[in-house]
Amino acid sequence: MRSSLKLITVFGIPIELHVSFLFLILFIYAMVFLNFIQLQLAVLITLLFVTVVIHELSHSYVAQRYGVAIERIILLPIGGVSQMEKVPKNPVQELWISIAGPVTNFVIAAVFYLILVAVQGIIPLVYSAFIYDFVLVNVVLGGFNMLPAFPMDGGRILRSILANRMNYLRATKLSASIGKQLAIIMAIVGLLILFNPFLVLVALFIYIGADQEYKSTVISSLLEDVFVKDIMTKEVKIFHPYTTIDDALKTMYQKRHMGYPVLDEGKLVGIVTFHDISQIPDTKRNINIKEIMTEKVITSTPNEGVVDALNKITVNNIGRLPVMEDEKLVGIISKTDIMRVLEILSQKNQKM
Ligand code: ZN
Repeated sequence: MRSSLKLITVFGIPIELHVSFLFLILFIYAMVFLNFIQLQLAVLITLLFVTVVIHELSHSYVAQRYGVAIERIILLPIGGVSQMEKVPKNPVQELWISIAGPVTNFVIAAVFYLILVAVQGIIPLVYSAFIYDFVLVNVVLGGFNMLPAFPMDGGRILRSILANRMNYLRATKLSASIGKQLAIIMAIVGLLILFNPFLVLVALFIYIGADQEYKSTVISSLLEDVFVKDIMTKEVKIFHPYTTIDDALKTMYQKRHMGYPVLDEGKLVGIVTFHDISQIPDTKRNINIKEIMTEKVITSTPNEGVVDALNKITVNNIGRLPVMEDEKLVGIISKTDIMRVLEILSQKNQKM
């Protein structure tokens, strides 16, 4: 089942509403209908979401101009997300892509402020109040996103400026630590001065975002020039579909690997792991691997970057990828292999 509905397509980018978002909108207007909240507030919230879409569209539009493929923009109750290909680690491109969102909000705010000045007194007060709210929403959204902390745009802007003077990894480290310090200050102000739990929550969100961005940048920087063929295991122990579970277990104890590709006449037909086998009761140990193997196998290629392979492993929550070349099995790469390489590279890096 699809969890989102397509609303419109702008610049060739589909804009979708997540189901939970639709419920939120319905809920808000139901509250208006039941007189729990005023219509003005509901309209203001709607305007906020319109603003979020415009903000995300500006990022996507600029990214698209740099050749980054945009899959879609999806609206969630917590805000908008642009799903795009990995943005190249080019500081100039990152700067323009990141700054586009907040700048668009400020431009919209300025234009509507001028309109407000022009029409004030001419149109009914209710309408000018709406325009005023729309200006305010844009200023707040643009301003909030300019905070120099990941995952906000300001964090990326700061990194791209720093990356002109130092390498990408150091720039990320520095901007992440600035973001964390900002989050700590925000939390202290929220707790002790303003007594505002919302501010503390935002601070926590920023702290976690900064930390995650730093960790994932470290991983992708360390593994930047490492390819699957460099670290894959080339001598792969394989199973035949008609190997019995009993025999497979014996091999597993000998070889001490956790997962094995299953090949039938040289063709990859499945993969079986120690975890799959350990689920089978002792009484059924004479059945064939074929009955319990996973048939839909996610694979890698020798020339794939290790970062991308790790991504596949993480996203699919699996332990390893068979490596295929011209439909032939040439190796296997596991999460454990990648983690060991990461450990070695990070120790080597500390010594430099
Ligand atoms: Zn943004």
